[in-house]
Formats: sequence, structure tokens, C-alpha cells
Amino acid sequence: MAHEVRGVVAAAKGAPVTIEKVMVPDPGPGEALVDVLACGVCHTDLHYREGGINDDFPFLLGHEAAGRVAAVGEGVTDVSPGDFVVLNWRAVCGQCRACRRGRPQYCFATHNATQKMTLEDGTVLSPALGIGAFAEKTLVAAGQCTPVSQRADPAVVGLLGCGVMAGLGASMLTGNVGPGDSVAVFGCGGVGDAAIAGARLAGATTIVAVDLDDRKLQLARQFGATHTVNGSTEDAVEGVRAATGGYGADVCVEAVGHPKVLEQAFFARDLAGTVVQVGVPTPDMQFPDIPMIEFFGRGGALKPSWYGDCLPSRDFPLLVDLYLQGRLPLDRFVSERIGLDGVEEAFHKMERGEVLRSVVVL
Ligand SMILES: [Zn+2]
Ligand SMILES: [Zn+2]
Repeated sequence: MAHEVRGVVAAAKGAPVTIEKVMVPDPGPGEALVDVLACGVCHTDLHYREGGINDDFPFLLGHEAAGRVAAVGEGVTDVSPGDFVVLNWRAVCGQCRACRRGRPQYCFATHNATQKMTLEDGTVLSPALGIGAFAEKTLVAAGQCTPVSQRADPAVVGLLGCGVMAGLGASMLTGNVGPGDSVAVFGCGGVGDAAIAGARLAGATTIVAVDLDDRKLQLARQFGATHTVNGSTEDAVEGVRAATGGYGADVCVEAVGHPKVLEQAFFARDLAGTVVQVGVPTPDMQFPDIPMIEFFGRGGALKPSWYGDCLPSRDFPLLVDLYLQGRLPLDRFVSERIGLDGVEEAFHKMERGEVLRSVVVL
């Protein structure tokens, strides 16, 4: 039996999203049906709507979500109906080369539901990042459900499903930030502020926030930035150097996705420092023109960070616990709570830089 629910659909490139009737099948083998409780609005949803990811319209948007498992299909043993879960887009396969070598966070054969959600007329929907959670119910692979503490607010912890995890992981996992490190974060939106919070949690003592907008720099301080640099009024590289005793930062996190910013992050490092690229570039961007001798001579590492190199089953429950203990200000990422009909306006607020995250609450 299929369930008829309301969902936010992007029907065509650039067209405003609409609320449509979505048919969600009962879970088959290895699948879980989830009652969505909350779902954050992410830049990636907008990228789908703009045709920047692929052309598989229509899309069922939404992917930073928490919910309650309503039913599971045959053979599912890891989650049960009633479990409170954060959804993820890294349900690892356990069998590919990366998984077998004990590095499941690099799995490239991750699972999604096999059955399709459709419009009322049978048109197959493409769920954003294999989730599609701007809907009252969604169908995912059971491995996409990570049970976390029932005490947590779904609007807050759902954000771990994508952008906030990417930022936290950029510092804590990819950048391997440790006690006493200095960290500079370029771009202080949701992902960048999460990288700042992650750096603080990992013990960094100097955390430099770099942005072009004073409002964002102010907010960055609330997440743990100890210094701020406004790149529109001062040289970003010099600003980071000044904040780190003239050395440059041990870890520079690029959270914008722009060659110019990557170049700044590259030169703002101390010798043997690490650049973490977590901002997502567009396909037309080129690597900055940096003399190769500078790459060699400065040592260190340049590391792209995909989903913060997280392993949801390991990282989500622990980060939720840290939030509940008051050690990670996850709730500060929630700028506003909206309904399904507020997604289009939330895209505009995001583009204007007015919100860290608008969260749809169901
Ligand atoms: Zn795998
Ligand atoms: Zn996202």
C-alpha cells in the first residue's frame, strides 16, 4: 500500500518549488518508512532546483532530517518502528574495497531505497541525496536511519544529516584538529560556523573566522571564534597571520567553494599546515594558479572533505549526546522554524545570507 503525503517538489529547472501529493510505498526488503518530524533547508536543495546537480527532474527536495521510523521491510534488524532517527546519505555497503579495508567513511556504494516515490500520476520522483524529506513521510534504505537519543529536538539534530556534520567533520575528522591548534575558517555560513564549533570542541585555542559580512562574523563568535577578519576591509591572509602570532593557522577550512578563497586558505597556513576544502565548487571553477614550489615548499596537506568524512552510525549519536550535555551549541543553527509551504521563501533568505538554517517542522 502506498501512503499519500504532501511533499515539496522541484518540477523544472529554476521554477519555484510547489507542494504536491507524493505517493510513498510501504518499505520493501532493506528499506524503512520514516515519519519526518523536521528537515533543514540546505544550499544543496537549491542547487537541485537550479539544475546544478543533475537533470533528473522532478526532485523531491529535503535531506537534513530527523524523524520516527514508522515501518521497516524484510530483513531490517538495525532499526525498528518507533526509533527516533537522524537521516543520512552515507548508508555504507560493508562490501566495497573501502568498507573491507575498515574505511567505511569512504564507501562509494552507499545504499538508498530501491522502490521509488512518485507523484499521484505515477511520475517517478528523484529524492534529493537519496532522502527527499520535505514530506510528511519518506522511504529510505534502513542504513540511512541512525538512531539517536529520544530526548533531542528533531529540528536541531536533523541538521547533523548534512551541512552541520560537514562542517563539524571538516575540523574534527578531515582536519584532525587537536588541543592547542590554531584554525582559520573561511566563510561563516552554516557549514563554516559548524567548522568553528568543531574546532572548539576538538580543543583549538585560536579560531579565526573570515568572512565579508560583519553580521556573520559576530555570529561566528557565538560558535567559538576567538578572532575575526573581514576580508572586504583587510587582507584575509595577513589577518589570519596577525591572529596567530605571525605564523598562520595549523588548519585552514575553506567553507565557500571558490578558487580565490582556496588560494587564501592555502597561504594563510603555517608551514606543514592543512587546508580542508569543504565548500562545494561549481563544475566550471579551476584550481587556483599556485606556483608548485609553494605547494612543495610549505609542506602539509590539502584535503577535500566530503560530508566531513563522517560515519553516521559512529558520529551522530555522539554529537547528539554532546549537544544534550551543553557542549555543542547545535540549537544555534536553527534560525527559524517554518512549514512545508515556506521552503521557497527560505531559499531566498538563504541567498540573502539572512539565516543559518530555516527548518521545516512537521
Ligand atoms: Zn562500501
Ligand atoms: Zn545539505
